[in-house]
Amino acid sequence: MTTLEQDIRRSVRTIKDYPRKGIAFKDLTTLWKNGRLNRRVTAALVASWRRGRIDKIVGIEARGFIVGAPLADRLGLGFVPARKVGKLPGDKMSVNYELEYGRQGLEIHSDAISKGDRVLVVDDLLATGGTAKAACSLVERLGGEVVGIAFVTELSYLKGREKLAGYEVRSLAKFDSD
Ligand code: AMP
Repeated sequence: MTTLEQDIRRSVRTIKDYPRKGIAFKDLTTLWKNGRLNRRVTAALVASWRRGRIDKIVGIEARGFIVGAPLADRLGLGFVPARKVGKLPGDKMSVNYELEYGRQGLEIHSDAISKGDRVLVVDDLLATGGTAKAACSLVERLGGEVVGIAFVTELSYLKGREKLAGYEVRSLAKFDSD
């Protein structure tokens, strides 16, 4: 395990039974408040994704914005928000999906992705993979190509990678148990 992975795992706080009983919630706010560690996380994501053509970053509301926006800035790429239902003002594409603790919808502006755009999807955490898969399906319905999915952390015991089979999935730190 790398030092960065150890530091990420140590800095993430686990809150039991949030937002409902049985869920061990991984709270990354305890990582993000640490400026030096936060910078190392962004640098590691930049190093991981700087090779190869990417046209846009899609960040998933809300914690994917915190990770995706600085990454887009550092890579010199446009940032596209994938938002929860009812937040985007313009013409949009919608999808419904299951996540670890319920059902949700995700939307993206129809003109945010152009046909042939190579897109990196970003979120803070991979749990069951439903959210990331929904974001990928929105990108693809608009004619974009998903070149990868980037996470800071991954709950590997929930096997989200199986749902995302066929995509290039990378995370900086894995949790093998809650
Ligand atoms: P999933 O669709 O199950 O992969 O869920 C991923 C999304 O829900 C991400 O946006 C996470 O921020 C959030 N999420 C799901 N489960 C957890 C958890 N145990 N701890 C923290 N965030 C979670």
